[in-house]
Amino acid sequence: MGKQEDFVLRAIEERDVRFVRLWFTDVLGSLKSVAIAPTELEGAFEEGIGFDGSAIEGFARVHEADMLAKPDPSTFQILPWRGETPATARMFCDIAMPDGSPSYADPRYVLKRALAKAADSGFTFYTHPEIEFFVFKSKPEPGTRPVAVDDSGYFDHTAQGASQDFRREVITMLEAMGISVEFSHHEGGPGQQEIDLRYADALSMADNIMTFRTIVREVALSQGKWASFMPKPFTDHPGSGMHTHVSLFEGDENVFYEAGAEYQLSKTGRAFIAGILEHTPEITAVTNQWVNSYKRLAWGGEAPNYVCWGHNNRSALVRVPMYKPHKSGSARVELRAPDSACNPYLAYALILAAGLKGIENGYELPPEAEDDVWSLSENERRAMGIAPLPRNLDEAIRTMETSELVAETLGEHVFDFFLRNKRAEWQDYRSQVTQFEIDRLMPVL
Ligand code: GLN
Ligand code: MG
Ligand code: MG
Ligand code: MG
Repeated sequence: MGKQEDFVLRAIEERDVRFVRLWFTDVLGSLKSVAIAPTELEGAFEEGIGFDGSAIEGFARVHEADMLAKPDPSTFQILPWRGETPATARMFCDIAMPDGSPSYADPRYVLKRALAKAADSGFTFYTHPEIEFFVFKSKPEPGTRPVAVDDSGYFDHTAQGASQDFRREVITMLEAMGISVEFSHHEGGPGQQEIDLRYADALSMADNIMTFRTIVREVALSQGKWASFMPKPFTDHPGSGMHTHVSLFEGDENVFYEAGAEYQLSKTGRAFIAGILEHTPEITAVTNQWVNSYKRLAWGGEAPNYVCWGHNNRSALVRVPMYKPHKSGSARVELRAPDSACNPYLAYALILAAGLKGIENGYELPPEAEDDVWSLSENERRAMGIAPLPRNLDEAIRTMETSELVAETLGEHVFDFFLRNKRAEWQDYRSQVTQFEIDRLMPVL
């Protein structure tokens, strides 16, 4: 038993923890949890807790179902919404096969593998997400439209506003669990919120995002409300993105930074962006994994729709934010496509792999898009070499299918499962007769 395990065992006694929840994430990004008694914990650290992998989305077929969840002691935290005495704690798990080898189906392992590859070149990958979501008055009944908690908009501050209190409670819980928040505000849509987490290494951040989603849902329910990370709940309002700022470090040094370079962006930073631009269409099925994700991308509302980069250009897929002179040594790049309903482990693994490909192969960064790319004509965009993002899940799947980068990064098991699952989603969706068609066509046909 290592030091961290000892620390956890001691904390459990000192804090009167009666339940320990073991958390992990399925391939589509849903959180799974099994609660164990503290007496089981030593065994869990040593051998893992057995479970039926075939009952977890994307994990295993029935005849190879046995899997083990092994808690990562560095992720031990008390759950603030479960009360203090007795307390409930959680740890994220790595998933292992019965012989102890890591499971290829575990999204956390997919990300760990991608991070290890970056570490071979001396890089650490940091991310900082701006997470958007909606808060509704209640969980919508099937067949009804959701009703937002307020009618406010971007940065609105309303006296006694329900949204402020909501965000404050979420942030208090996040901080109690060691997750720092940088900014929070009302977003553009009614009831839409944004909370931005302080940067951390990508694995901790993916864990943090899973915790974040849980806390937001818990707070909503505790207030009799309903929160959702659905990418585009309203036809006429913006969707919920998860813009992610990324940077690469070598030791203490941010390798995207170069004093005096354009936008203080180093050659490595430029090659990383070039890699992202080149491979974004291939990874979009993962960063924007639902039929509904493409409604957000199609609508505008500052969600990207074309493959290009820019400085301070919010129509661009990749934005190099304004340089802050007092932050010498720092440089980061904002990716605007991912949405709040992606699997953060898989999305961050692919973003990293795409950027590293650009660095390894010395990709050249095309000129930046200075214009608002939405206002250009199709011909102008073509002349400038600006390609569209996949327009729907079907296009995204077809682009992903041919991608060596995605197959290699996700591994064969996750790659195959993901494509199979998403093809089925598209198939279900494309045969739906929608209210839109009834309203448009019935009166005239
Ligand atoms: N909601 C927008 C999106 O979908 C972003 C709006 C903003 O952060 N300015 O990406
Ligand atoms: Mg923001
Ligand atoms: Mg925002
Ligand atoms: Mg942003």
